[in-house]
Amino acid sequence: MSKNFKSGFASIVGRPNVGKSTLLNSLLGEKIAIITNKPQTTRNIIRGIMTTDEFQVIFVDTPGHHRAKDKLSENMVKMSERSVKDGDVVLFVTAPAEKHDIHPADMDMLEILSKRNSTKFLLINKIDTISKDRVLAITKAYNDVCAFDETFPVSALKGDNLLALRECIVRYFPNGPRYFPEGIMTDSSDAFLVGEMIREKALYLLQEEIPHGIAVEIGSLKKREDKDIIDIEATIYCEKNSHKGIIIGKQGAMLKDIGTRARRDIQRLYDEKINLQLWVKIKENWRDSDFFMRNLGFKAD
Ligand code: GDP
Ligand code: MG
Repeated sequence: MSKNFKSGFASIVGRPNVGKSTLLNSLLGEKIAIITNKPQTTRNIIRGIMTTDEFQVIFVDTPGHHRAKDKLSENMVKMSERSVKDGDVVLFVTAPAEKHDIHPADMDMLEILSKRNSTKFLLINKIDTISKDRVLAITKAYNDVCAFDETFPVSALKGDNLLALRECIVRYFPNGPRYFPEGIMTDSSDAFLVGEMIREKALYLLQEEIPHGIAVEIGSLKKREDKDIIDIEATIYCEKNSHKGIIIGKQGAMLKDIGTRARRDIQRLYDEKINLQLWVKIKENWRDSDFFMRNLGFKAD
């Protein structure tokens, strides 16, 4: 490890749909963040970790603001506020609006940001859809409201300008420790990642039927000794018996669909054959349990 090792946090903020998850995935080169149009699925705060011989960037993805109704929402609010305040670099992501230089929904966040003294970058995403003139107009309009330290026009989808962005983030980092061991792309192990992938598929397939009422626990994750197969056992927790029925589906059809889709993603992550066994269990009020908060990646303060 180099003596001048640099490390820090880069928090990604911005309204839904501007491409935050896509950006993170392109930066890390793997499918890590959950991409979905359900804002609340972005629940865990550490989204990805990039480690080289010279630096470590810990990307933090912030959920939107929610009213604190239970422990889960409470934690989400606390962490999103903290990451805007204490993030070493704040990446404010936006995407072009049709008739305005500044998207009206960005205004509140911009004003809040302009009062924080952390390092802030403006990322104008989806530049593959607009002209250079528009990029310049947007750059100026946003910087008039909030003086950004850097402005990067990017395309998360095409990968445009992401290398330069990565290098620039690191330039702002102080010398610091390697917070997480090399090889880990996200916090708290592979089990966390795999659990997130299963949860993503379940939320996608179940749509509105079980509003935020599931957690996923990985019971075991082991590579078979004599074969290139990884065996994974996971349990989906829900709060009610009726929910359990919905998750399992008619003759197990829903659970099978969740498993098939999740396995496809997990396979891509490991590039190895995956044998995934899924179970469904009821645990009432899991959202108020500290165990599950930790399980979902929240650390007690
Ligand atoms: P998030 O809600 O901010 O996390 O946004 P997502 O990453 O889920 O992306 C929202 C939508 O924008 C998806 O359909 C993406 O494919 C699309 N998108 C993201 N980045 C780009 C980009 O650079 N160019 C274009 N054309 N579309 C993008
Ligand atoms: Mg997202």
